[in-house]
Amino acid sequence: MKLAPHLHRIGNDIVAAYLIVADDGITVIDAGLPGHAKDLERELADLGRTPADIRGLVLTHGDSDHIGFAESLRREHGVPVYVHAADAHRARTGEKPKVATGPMRLGPTIGFFWYALRKRAVPTRYVTEVTEVHDGDVLDLPGAPAIIGMPGHSPGSIAVHSPLADAVFVGDALTTRHVLTGRPGPQPAPFTDDPAAASASLDRLAGLRASWVLPGHGAPWRGSPADVAAAVRAAA
Ligand SMILES: [Zn+2]
Repeated sequence: MKLAPHLHRIGNDIVAAYLIVADDGITVIDAGLPGHAKDLERELADLGRTPADIRGLVLTHGDSDHIGFAESLRREHGVPVYVHAADAHRARTGEKPKVATGPMRLGPTIGFFWYALRKRAVPTRYVTEVTEVHDGDVLDLPGAPAIIGMPGHSPGSIAVHSPLADAVFVGDALTTRHVLTGRPGPQPAPFTDDPAAASASLDRLAGLRASWVLPGHGAPWRGSPADVAAAVRAAA
């Protein structure tokens, strides 16, 4: 689905991933669930492109609902996979600390897990080879994605800012739809390792200029990163 000339989205408000579409190729942000590989194929076909046009895949963090088709893209098409050094182990193994889930409602929770099963979330395909990135890096990929450290949801959570796409991709640094309660609107994401650190990291978003703030779960946010950061704090 096209959000803007250089910005496309696959998936839905339950789980989403994004494409930065440039003349020199495509950068994919997050890999959703394994079944989203088909959605990616369809989106590329609509664009008149192929997987050979994908120059890199940047993961906002290493959780299983963001690495879905990463390993197949890497193996079958040689696409390098970038993840923050502090989440590289998680992307390779799935190991993470146990955290309290917080509030949930039965319908949205079942909806999330049902969607995950339909998109072949089990078993998780971990990423066997990653390129580690760090806060402040600007990657030599279409859209010149800049890495902004956003520790909290996980130690290696990042936001990815692309001036070409006029967007900042935030993964689970915040959400605009709580997957376990169905509550819409900007708010802290569930399954967060360190909520206090995640809240502090919102300051890093506030200084960015972009027209889109794009979470891994929930509707695209059209508006300034500073406003969304303030809205997440107000909802906490
Ligand atoms: Zn997630």
